[in-house]
Amino acid sequence: MSATPIDGKAIAAALRARVAEETRALAARGVHPGLAVVLVGEDPASRVYVRNKAAQTVEAGMRSFEHRLPADTTQADLLALVATLNADDDVDGILVQLPLPAQIDAQTVIEAIAPDKDVDGFHPVNAGRLATGMPGLVPCTPLGAMMLIDTVRPDLSGLEAVVIGRSNIVGKPMAQLLLARSCTVTIAHSRTRDLPDVCRRADVLVAAVGRPEMVRGDWIKPGAVVIDVGINRVPNPAAEHDPAAKKTRLVGDVAFAEACAVAGAITPVPGGVGPMTIACLLANTLQAAKARRGI
Ligand code: NDP
Repeated sequence: MSATPIDGKAIAAALRARVAEETRALAARGVHPGLAVVLVGEDPASRVYVRNKAAQTVEAGMRSFEHRLPADTTQADLLALVATLNADDDVDGILVQLPLPAQIDAQTVIEAIAPDKDVDGFHPVNAGRLATGMPGLVPCTPLGAMMLIDTVRPDLSGLEAVVIGRSNIVGKPMAQLLLARSCTVTIAHSRTRDLPDVCRRADVLVAAVGRPEMVRGDWIKPGAVVIDVGINRVPNPAAEHDPAAKKTRLVGDVAFAEACAVAGAITPVPGGVGPMTIACLLANTLQAAKARRGI
């Protein structure tokens, strides 16, 4: 058996196209959704993310407001910028790129963002809305992962779901989304006993750990839907004999080739969950723009 690949790149492109179409329709009514992205410092990965986010925001027809602050920005200065963006009517979504430099407490900043502009969905009000089944802004990565699951297994009712990872950004909201779809959900983490055995129960297995290829083929229930959220940079073995080859490559938290032989459907890395994250950010910005205007 070979698992059906879940093409996150194509599904994300289709979502971005839908967002762009709706954005055009809003523009015709004089509404121009805007996303403000704040980057503090020079973290190279964050710079790439912010650049991609801004480019895709513009491509979708939305306004993009980029704020780049020096690495020694004080927490007070960042909070002042967030307050300005909260009050700016042209700004529908605010995203402060994480991680933040050590002098700034990320949780304080997240809590300063107006919940109706919190397009990352990290504010406790939005986390609480998700947990209590109220409409709100849902974190982009689990939202995107859920959309990918829907393409291969639309009816999840009664299925066993296992989420490995309990972060506020991925693991916990992912588990809430699966619970809302009537899965029987287990959240596994670093203290979980006999993780392989827990994973073998899963009809839907979501790995959000940050450990390269940790989930092996024999951890997977035959036919399961496997969603690999992990993005890990590892040395590229090809670079040993080919000087032209890239020194590193990206792998997920799942041993892809092994998993393919057992799973029913699986997301690749790269090209699975990753592209969905920014597409969902745009979808959240659109949702925020409409909700703020009562559309
Ligand atoms: P965190 O480091 O915040 O959380 C990792 C989780 O994995 C923790 O709950 C931790 O458990 C658990 N864990 C660590 N080691 C083990 C282990 N040996 N066995 C079982 N569980 C373990 O990471 P994030 O949630 O932020 O991200 C997870 C992964 O997803 C990363 O690779 C990240 O790069 C990727 N990611 C990808 C995104 C995308 O767009 N595709 C977006 C966001 C993240 P404990 O709580 O006990 O420490």
